[in-house]
Amino acid sequence: MNAEIYHFKVGTFKCMAVSDGTHTYTPPTFPPPATFLFANAPKERLEQVLREHSLQPEQWIEWISPYICVVVDTGKHRVLVDTGAGALAPNTGRLLQNLQAEGIAPGDIDTVILTHGHPDHIGGNTDSEGRRPAFPNARFVMWKDEWDFWTSEEAEVKLDEHARELLLMFARKNLPPIQGSLDLIDHEREILPGIQAIAAPGHTPGHMALAISSGGEQLLCISDAVLHPIHVEQPEWCAAVDFAPDQVVATRRRLLHRAAAEKALVLAFHFPFPGLGYVIQKGEGWQWQSIETEG
Ligand SMILES: [Zn+2]
Repeated sequence: MNAEIYHFKVGTFKCMAVSDGTHTYTPPTFPPPATFLFANAPKERLEQVLREHSLQPEQWIEWISPYICVVVDTGKHRVLVDTGAGALAPNTGRLLQNLQAEGIAPGDIDTVILTHGHPDHIGGNTDSEGRRPAFPNARFVMWKDEWDFWTSEEAEVKLDEHARELLLMFARKNLPPIQGSLDLIDHEREILPGIQAIAAPGHTPGHMALAISSGGEQLLCISDAVLHPIHVEQPEWCAAVDFAPDQVVATRRRLLHRAAAEKALVLAFHFPFPGLGYVIQKGEGWQWQSIETEG
């Protein structure tokens, strides 16, 4: 299997999980992974759960996170979900070359859906000079609250100075150039036939999930509603980067309930590549089950 591209189908839609690379979250730039990902978890219970996942609490010092974009070919439209991180880190910005390897040129994408305005999701919006959209024929779609938040003068980012500056720098570089080809949405509706926007606020103010449906099958792109498979089991444990933890928990419960009840295929942007799996009901809660991929 190509470790950076994974083909699958949703009904008649031809889909691909496409890696933009990985980023290593480690001190001193970031808190240790357990603190970063599960900021409000009770210590003893956290250590127990980490061990259940074969993670040694004291030794888990770096979180190597994949960044996974999605391409959906509906037959009429070629849609890209998120543009990756661009030049954020040494191992990111691989989206365009991975698309090219599949014979897809930037001009072939007619719709780019941005789930939210964090650097790892909008960093590939623009060309290398940062002036023009990297996907010249695409209309870009984003939730209105999200656009308003990141383009306001004083975006209220409750993080340390370094992280705050990084987030704002990426927003200022990667959002204005797409303004001329932008569609903002403010309620749950179909973006294109078979591609439905779902309000999923919390991680950021206008974070958006997608339900992609064809031929009775469904893919839920939940983006950063969860960052790590442990969040599926422990939906109350929020990450340091989650903007509104109470909203995160409510959004997660709604999406996880739906995914399990509808037996939808799920794609989570930061999960181990290709990020695809199912949410299984387990007692009162849920568990993540990744799809079997051929080695
Ligand atoms: Zn992310």
